[in-house]
Parts: sequence; C-alpha cells; structure tokens
Amino acid sequence: MHIYPDAKTVAQAIAPDEPVILNRPHAARRAAAYFTDKFPGKVLYAVKANPAPDLIQILWDAGVTHYDVASIAEVRLVRGILPDAELCFMHPIKTRGAIKEAYFTHGVKTFTLDSIEELEKIVEVCSDPETGEPASDLRLLVRLRVSSEYSELSLASKFGCDLTDLPELLHLTRQHCDWLGICFHVGSQAMSPFAFVQALDRTRAAIAQASVVIDMIDVGGGFPSIYPDMEPPPLEDYFAIIHQHFEALPIAYNAELWCEPGRALAAEYSSMIVKVEKRRGAELYINDGAYGALYDAAHVAWRFPVAALEDDLRDPLGDFAFYGPTCDDADYMAGPFPLPGDIQAGDYIEIGMLGAYGAAMKTGFNGFGDAEVLVVEDEPMMSLFDGSRRREASDNVVSLR
Ligand SMILES: *Cc1c(COP(=O)(O)O)cnc(C)c1O
Repeated sequence: MHIYPDAKTVAQAIAPDEPVILNRPHAARRAAAYFTDKFPGKVLYAVKANPAPDLIQILWDAGVTHYDVASIAEVRLVRGILPDAELCFMHPIKTRGAIKEAYFTHGVKTFTLDSIEELEKIVEVCSDPETGEPASDLRLLVRLRVSSEYSELSLASKFGCDLTDLPELLHLTRQHCDWLGICFHVGSQAMSPFAFVQALDRTRAAIAQASVVIDMIDVGGGFPSIYPDMEPPPLEDYFAIIHQHFEALPIAYNAELWCEPGRALAAEYSSMIVKVEKRRGAELYINDGAYGALYDAAHVAWRFPVAALEDDLRDPLGDFAFYGPTCDDADYMAGPFPLPGDIQAGDYIEIGMLGAYGAAMKTGFNGFGDAEVLVVEDEPMMSLFDGSRRREASDNVVSLR
C-alpha cells in the first residue's frame, strides 16, 4: 500500500471524490505500548471500537494478547487473524449458538453474564455433548451495574447485575467455575478517574456481602481519548487510582486486574478526508455523515477536530455545521466545527480522532459509505501519547470536572 506523509498530500495527489480513511499504525502502536507498559494488569482490546483487521494485527504485534469480543462475528474475525489470541466473550446476553461455536470451535473459555438465566445457558451449552459432564475450564465474569455519571456516553442502564442481586449470582457462578471475576463498565469517555473509584467501591461492597473468592477484577473500558473541549486528566492518574483501589479489595492474593479499553487504544488510529460538495452560509454539505464515520457527531453532538486541507484559504476561522451526503435531514452534525471563513465547495477537510466508533460506524445507507483506506505517517490531530501533554503541578489525582 502506498504510504503518504499526511492528509494534505493525499488530497493534492488523488483529489478524492469519496471520503478517504487515513490510518496511522504508529499511533495505534504507541497507544498499545502505553497501556501494556503502564496499566498495572492485563489489557484487553474491546474490538467493537474498531474491528479493522490491520488494527487488530497492529495491537497484537504491540503486545495486546487478549480481546474483548461481543458477538460470534467478532469471535470469528479475531480468531481468523490471531490464532493464538485469548478471546473473552463479554456480552452478557449471548445466543446458545454463539456460545457453542465460541467454546467448542474457537477455544473461548471466558464468558460474561449478569443473570442466573445466562449462567444456566452457558453451563448447559458448554457441557460435554456426549456425557453431559459440565465443563471444568470455564472462566466466568459477573457484570455489576455501576454508574455512568462521570462519562460522556452512558453504559449504565442496559447491562449489569444490581448490587442487591450480586451476592446470590456470585455464589451460584462460583459453583460452575474455578476462576471467577467481576467486571463493570463506567461508560465511555470517562472524564474523571473518580468514575473507577466509585465502581471499585461498589465492587468492594459486593464482595464483602457475598464472601466468595474472587480471582479477577475487570474494570472495563471507559478510558478517555482527547477531543476538542474534552481534555481528560492523564491516563496515569486513572491507572494509579485503579491500582490503589484494586489492592485494597478483599480478593484472592493472586487475583488479576484487567481492563478493556476500546476508545483509548483506537481513537488516534484514524482520521478521514471529506470533500465539501456545497456551501450554504455556515453549513457545509460534505460527503460523509451520520450514517458514515460521523455517527457520534450527529447522534451525540461529538465534536471531532477539523482542519482545512487547502493552501489558499485566508479568512479567520468561523463556526460551521455539516450536512452528510444522504437525503435524510437527520444527517446533520451541529458542531460547531471551526474552519476558515472562505472555505467553499470543492475544498477538502480532514476530520480527526475517528479511529474509535468512527470508521467502525460506516454504513452503506442511501448508496453512500464507500471510502478508500490509506496509511499516513504524520501525527494524529490530537494525542494523549505523543508526549505533548504534561500534568500541571496543581492537578489533583481525583480532580473533578
Ligand atoms: C464498549 C465496551 C468496551 C470499550 O469501551 P470504551 O469506552 O471504548 O473503552 C469495553 N468493555 C465492554 C464490555 C464494552 O461493551
């Protein structure tokens, strides 16, 4: 594949009519190295953030050996790329067919559940088809419901066992596995490390009530990336506080600590070049949108960084909104996105930080959605890992927004 220095070179060289996804392998490698070096436990990649095979291979090469998969398609995908990876099936509601294929065909032993129903399903499906003997190698995680109050995107209402039901579920689950964990998810883009303190406090209460031996704690994803007006405290602060609270839990002396970042590992991997097809006042009609990589920009008003890729724009920055290419009014991204005031139809824009929940969200709705994929060598538009961010002396480890 041809490698370009940066987005501007691509725009000038190929003047693309369709959006172009620009991948930065070095950025993904750096994020993975940061997590595997500094997180005080095991790092799983949450595949849903971006299932691109080349990214999965890059993360594996950078030392990420465990993968959080949520569907049988993700199990097959990662197994096809990485025969030796440890796959952990973290969706608390799975079909029997998915559990069966994962366990018997792809060697998946680690499963999450949040109900007795799901526990019974897993145990039954994984028992020996001939003898009916229960599986002896299951590693089961019980998902606890925790608050999402410190996160930009909630994951608090759909999954997770309530604290009151947890002791019973832990007891029952313990009877079916030699290795029992507790997991949770504090919500995506957790802007304060305190999110994890709160969740680990809940975990502590649950373990104390249940008095069962716990072999692992999985603090889930939620580790933030950086976007305009969303600059989180350093990830080291998250790691330090998680380690401190993990150490204080009443769990097995050799208990493991896991995390499952999706966003923080993938966000810096990709950006995208879009073309302005038309301008109407402060609204730009571009060729990707709500049904493409800009899903979050449309649906939760996420503000991604933008830059014009033209040399002849002179006006100061003004605030723009985007319309995507489909015929749907909802294909609208309010921004505001700051771009030169004289930007016009035919100009190209780079939109950054689309490696997580960006490139992965593209659909073919209305016939749009094609995009070329290229590799570039420059730095992502924003980064948590390029050494540019230094902690202010006054920053408090648990400072709240
Ligand atoms: C989505 C998800 C993740 C990744 O979350 P991020 O906020 O992207 O880090 C991790 N674990 C589970 C169970 C998830 O559903």
